[in-house]
Amino acid sequence: MKLLVTGGAGYVGSVCAARLLEAGHEVVVLDDLSTGHADAVPEGCRFVQGDVGDVAGPLLAEGFDGVLHFAAKSLVGESMQDPAKYWQGNVVTSLRLLDAMHENGVHRLVFSSTAATYGEPEQSPVRETAPTRPTNTYGATKLAIDQAITSYAAAHGLAATSLRYFNVAGAYGRFGERHTVETHLIPIVLQVALGQREQVQIYGEDWPTEDGTCVRDYIHVLDLAEAHLLALETSVPGRHRIYNLGNGTGFSVRQVIETCRAVTGHPVPAAVAPRRAGDPAVLVASSEQVQQDLGWKPQRPDLTDIVRDAWEFTRARQGA
Ligand code: UDP
Repeated sequence: MKLLVTGGAGYVGSVCAARLLEAGHEVVVLDDLSTGHADAVPEGCRFVQGDVGDVAGPLLAEGFDGVLHFAAKSLVGESMQDPAKYWQGNVVTSLRLLDAMHENGVHRLVFSSTAATYGEPEQSPVRETAPTRPTNTYGATKLAIDQAITSYAAAHGLAATSLRYFNVAGAYGRFGERHTVETHLIPIVLQVALGQREQVQIYGEDWPTEDGTCVRDYIHVLDLAEAHLLALETSVPGRHRIYNLGNGTGFSVRQVIETCRAVTGHPVPAAVAPRRAGDPAVLVASSEQVQQDLGWKPQRPDLTDIVRDAWEFTRARQGA
């Protein structure tokens, strides 16, 4: 298939683009490089730098079989301070992409959605039937796009799948996580191990969990990429499928730090800090639906393997 990958210079987008190429697809990456990196675009992809809202139309007019839409603003804190950036950058841009797909007869879509659409879940693990009550603007914009996709699928026969990621981690060779503003736990802990930060702050140890720190579901980015390939291959015209993607196992912040200590051999000093606004205590996915429908199953569920791959990527980038 000839595929357009928006945001293919970013973390998850670049790993997916690499896997799509390996699976024999023709891949065009569209990315404005606002947070992505040109050197993260896999070799063998055609790269177009530009805004998805502006460029998707003319590009799709060339003729494409499908779109994988990763390009998005994704910082929760920033989304609360600058909502326009998120409603414009995520929702308006995605609507323009959907219209461009419709106008150019491109009917296959895989969309990068998020667990943030559920907000503070009442039940764990979180199923797709859980109420969607986002607690931040980022989650609200992703939910709005999901809802638009449902309408477009019903009206225009779009064959769409939204994948709601929980905590993505790990790396695939030279493709990994490198944000200019790093907020995620595992990369921060690895920066401590590399000596780039003095310590990691634990955002609260008075949560209602076993060791008092927050519990999250960490999924290997390569397992995530495989789900995108399956979603693309099995898409059904006129249907919008929504699946949660996680390992189904939760790890606490302290367990993550311990695993990073074991993998890196570094003591990783940690200090307890106040809770971070908007953090739920526990966020674990039920991935039963995607396993049942698509036959997807995480192949790298071990947190040690996930951290090891992230560590190898981080060290290689530092030339350590
Ligand atoms: N966390 C932390 N210290 C940090 C960064 C994150 O204690 O420096 C915690 C955060 O409160 C959450 C978990 O680690 O419970 C995972 O956070 P991350 O930002 O990686 O992902 P999120 O779950 O927010 O998507």
